[in-house]
Amino acid sequence: MNSGVSSAASTPPRVFLSPPHIGVLEAQLVHEAFASNWIAPLGPHVNAFESEFARAVGSPHAVALSSGTAAIHLSLMLAGVGPADEVLVSSLTFSATVNPILYVGARPVFIDSETQSWNLDPGLVEDTLRRKAAAGKVPKALLVVHLYGQTADLEPLIQLCDKYGVTLIEDAAEALGARYRDRHPGVLGRTGIFSFNGNKIITTSGGGMLVTDDEALSRHAHKLASQARDMAPHYQHSEIGYNYRMSNVLAAIGRGQLMVLEERVAARRRNFDVYEAALSSVPGLTFQPEASWGRHTRWLTCLLVDPEQFGADREAIRLALEKDNIESRPLWKPMHRQPIFAAYEAVGGSVSDDLFERGLCLPSGSSLADGERQRVIDMVKSVHESTRKLR
Ligand SMILES: *Cc1c(COP(=O)(O)O)cnc(C)c1O
Repeated sequence: MNSGVSSAASTPPRVFLSPPHIGVLEAQLVHEAFASNWIAPLGPHVNAFESEFARAVGSPHAVALSSGTAAIHLSLMLAGVGPADEVLVSSLTFSATVNPILYVGARPVFIDSETQSWNLDPGLVEDTLRRKAAAGKVPKALLVVHLYGQTADLEPLIQLCDKYGVTLIEDAAEALGARYRDRHPGVLGRTGIFSFNGNKIITTSGGGMLVTDDEALSRHAHKLASQARDMAPHYQHSEIGYNYRMSNVLAAIGRGQLMVLEERVAARRRNFDVYEAALSSVPGLTFQPEASWGRHTRWLTCLLVDPEQFGADREAIRLALEKDNIESRPLWKPMHRQPIFAAYEAVGGSVSDDLFERGLCLPSGSSLADGERQRVIDMVKSVHESTRKLR
């Protein structure tokens, strides 16, 4: 160790895209779980986390699970989606949205984004449902994703699902704390899902939640997630189950995290405000819009780079940041561009293709320090300055 030696050449500390942000409350609650010896999967923290979460988002029922992906899988099963069924789904998303459609043997139909929120385009959903209904085969479900902390335009989607008898499932993994008008995302579909993965706005290190206003669905989800045990003193099973329940220790973390959700939203929105104030005047940079229909949490601050005006593309910015030990990421690569999903139908695609081509997610953690954010801003500006000198 060369302590005391100033080392201008050494790498500055890593700035992460969206690291976990854990407080003292969580440690106390976990300690309580240990002290009471409730290390077994189920326990009082799981029940408390479920009821506190349900109350927080305004849903009658919530089911704590091992991941958001598990919650999507169970949502599809509860909707009765199976082989030969089609599921309309946002193309611009993480693969975890789509994989469970394949787990149940169904086929995804990828729907492009609109430009107001970058979420799935209700106009394309309408065209697709009309066309498929005319051909005599209506998709079983619509799996809508609320990207980067902002909801899709739900009202027209709800109307379309009602009209065509399609089950609406909300993937709100990235949108806890957002609003659609005055409602929380996740509660407007038949089921809604959330994720507590380490990079999400609150975390249990790994975990998920399924919410629904239907008590029978909630009971069935609990059963499927715990190996589908029938009500009997012996072990009896009459359907295939899964081991998808959240453990009591992780639920303790979740309870502490849930209490500071509003603070986390405020911190993420502040990141966005500072980035926007500092960078929106730089030629060729535009930020993800906040649509008129609700509150964006700014889980991630995302911007678009116009290479002509900025003087370099988003990849040049990403690499410059990486060189300074700062993590940034392109937007999700659309699912209709993924080799594994190439064989499935896609409706449109040019909007999400363009977003992927030009989009970058900046470090957005709720624990991001002022100095760290400034390093990001300075580096983005310096990439632009250096290209100006070249002209
Ligand atoms: C994170 C994420 C998921 C998956 O959640 P896990 O808890 O990691 O399984 C699903 N959909 C979207 C859009 C996500 O961002």
